[in-house]
Amino acid sequence: MPKIQSYNNKLIDIGLNLTHPSLIDRYESIINDAYDVGVNYFILTGSDYNSSVESYNLAKNNKLFFSTAGIHPHYADTYNNNDFRIIEELSSENKVVAVGECGLDFHRNLSSKINQINCLQAHLVLANEINKPLFLHQRDAHMELYENLIDFKVNKGVLHSFTEDKNIMRQYLDLNLYIGITGWLCDPQRGQELREAVKYLPIESLLVETDAPYLLPKDLAIKPKDRINLPQFLPHIVQRIAEIKKIEIEPLVSQIYRNTLNCFGLTDDA
Ligand SMILES: [Zn+2]
Repeated sequence: MPKIQSYNNKLIDIGLNLTHPSLIDRYESIINDAYDVGVNYFILTGSDYNSSVESYNLAKNNKLFFSTAGIHPHYADTYNNNDFRIIEELSSENKVVAVGECGLDFHRNLSSKINQINCLQAHLVLANEINKPLFLHQRDAHMELYENLIDFKVNKGVLHSFTEDKNIMRQYLDLNLYIGITGWLCDPQRGQELREAVKYLPIESLLVETDAPYLLPKDLAIKPKDRINLPQFLPHIVQRIAEIKKIEIEPLVSQIYRNTLNCFGLTDDA
């Protein structure tokens, strides 16, 4: 595995799908490799019943881990009431720091639009009820998501794996939401609009995530042969952000660290 620069400050990967079949069997070595390059904490993404329960079980037993609980819009057609009851239960646990992954995905449309909207709204109600931030996913559904966030008076959470332009970004910033930046930024073609948006993103609103095993940064000097993204590539993403914003790494990392604590209601000795 390629060694990349490590920083003294703490980095937190806010989006790691550690229960994914491509990662879970070797998760201890994956976490060790990330820890070695300065990624110290991990928020494990729950995106359906199973991954929410499994992520919570990992978080419960490991002080480096936190988790989220939710139903991804891809599964809006197939989840049932009992699944959501478990999501509700998990969401009130201390180690579960956000409601989601939830949102709208009209790009792949793996579930019907109406079911996606109902599923999203159930999460918005839940987050408001228990006063926790949302972990939001959005593809090709900005206006619909934005209107729902306004209707439900959402003002806490993160637009995870944000990929769009600065005008759309500004609307989420106006709602007080954080913007989660992934290795999408490193894609020479697809990432162009996002790089432009990141120039204007106030560093007080910035969070970073790998979304591993998805979204392997395309510009890594040495890419893993299996093309599987890993949390150890988070410093690479931070490096790119620093270059784009023309700022020093150290203050950037400490600002991102403070943002992460603020967004998810964590304390320094968590
Ligand atoms: Zn997502």
